[in-house]
Amino acid sequence: MSMKIPFDNSYAALPARFFTQVMPDPVTAPELVAFNADLAAELGIAPAGKSEMAEVFAGNAVPEGAAPLAQVYAGHQFGGFSPQLGDGRAVLLGEVVDRGGMRRDIQLKGSGRTPYSRRGDGRAWLGPVLREYVLSEAMQCLGIPTTRALAAVVTGETVHREEPLPGAVLTRVAGSHIRVGTFQYFAARQDIEALQALFIYARDRHYPQAETPLDFLRAVIERQVKLVVQWLSIGFIHGVMNTDNTSISGETIDYGPAAFMDVYHPVTVYSSIDHGGRYAYDNQANVIAWNMAQLATSLVPLMPDSDVAIKAFTEAVHAMSGMIRTEWILVFGRKIGLAAATEEDEALIGDLLTVMADNQADFTNTFRALITGDARDQFTDPTAFDAWATQWRQRLQVEPEPEALMRRVNPAFIPRNHRVEQMIQSARAGDYVPFERLMKVLSRPYEDQPEAEDLTRPPLATEVVQQTFCG
Ligand code: AMP
Ligand code: MG
Ligand code: MG
Repeated sequence: MSMKIPFDNSYAALPARFFTQVMPDPVTAPELVAFNADLAAELGIAPAGKSEMAEVFAGNAVPEGAAPLAQVYAGHQFGGFSPQLGDGRAVLLGEVVDRGGMRRDIQLKGSGRTPYSRRGDGRAWLGPVLREYVLSEAMQCLGIPTTRALAAVVTGETVHREEPLPGAVLTRVAGSHIRVGTFQYFAARQDIEALQALFIYARDRHYPQAETPLDFLRAVIERQVKLVVQWLSIGFIHGVMNTDNTSISGETIDYGPAAFMDVYHPVTVYSSIDHGGRYAYDNQANVIAWNMAQLATSLVPLMPDSDVAIKAFTEAVHAMSGMIRTEWILVFGRKIGLAAATEEDEALIGDLLTVMADNQADFTNTFRALITGDARDQFTDPTAFDAWATQWRQRLQVEPEPEALMRRVNPAFIPRNHRVEQMIQSARAGDYVPFERLMKVLSRPYEDQPEAEDLTRPPLATEVVQQTFCG
């Protein structure tokens, strides 16, 4: 075995109750279907032969220096607390320190059962693996913090969901896989020693400048506020913002049913299991505040005086709605060409979104068309847009370079649901050309690519994807 990964593991050195050591389950006929050479280079991993990489990224061959383990965590799932979850279909192979000096986790997802699998089979099928591959890399290219995709393999085995499906394994790279739920796990067990060790570990890894749990909470909040507003700005709906899917590093993680909106509507939901719309597009800002409140609660036992802690933590969480609003105005202001939008611009931005919702405007294409002046065509009643645009043009008069600004923040290309679905169906039939093409086009989302115009088109009525699934 010659493929080398320069492992430098630290999570495995934490107390034994943070994880269970577990090897990935071998598969019968692994085949490499995607490999991210740029990311590999960033991680100091030299590519090997295709079959060797297939063995490694399927979990059949565990490279020297790996210390495979499944992490334990807890989490609120749709608001209900599960005191014990964990990597039920994933193993952390280990960590590498990348070229930039940052520690990154390398995890196999879909690699078989672990002690945390409960009734699950520990496997993934090709659809969600490629969905996460494409969406996470698209997010990266859009400039949004995210876990990354290093490789995808098909296993040669069948996975049983509603129907028999091709099995696959995703190799995922993350700043870490520490979740809000990781803190909740130890807090719920009142294991203060472990909680303290987790705090020190996560703090040193992600927020070394934070001295106290309060500093730490504020730092996580700051990143999560930025992250969720960035999601909103590109029409992204995570779909399962459970606290176990909210990362301490502030990266987008666990793409399961994640999707981008086509037609703008604030209460859009795609996830098949989100019946109440808890994780609808415009509820994501509320949910992240709720999730940060759960993190805050978990950190209270680390503070010497819990009354003082609760007061300070509550203030930090309550500050989020103001932070989100300020950030939202700034970020959405840029989308309409305002370099430094303030509260005075909030109504202008909000009015556009209202007109968009009332007129079934495509989210991505409407903002992109603002650059060229073609936006009115996106509205069922173009005159509704014209009325808004009169005020907008007035406001733009004091902006130096609104077109250049809008071009930097309004993507032309997003991984549209129907294209992702079509890509998955092609891959199932052995055709990876649509996957390769999506990856190539989505690597430059802010550039016009005339040869890929078809990928800017909203779905036809027959192509609309109504629901997405956890996988
Ligand atoms: P998710 O909804 O993907 O965040 O998963 C929630 C929990 O269910 C996590 O602890 C997963 O590890 C576990 N899980 C999801 N799918 C499977 C599966 N196929 N087998 C075992 N565990 C799973
Ligand atoms: Mg253990
Ligand atoms: Mg998860």
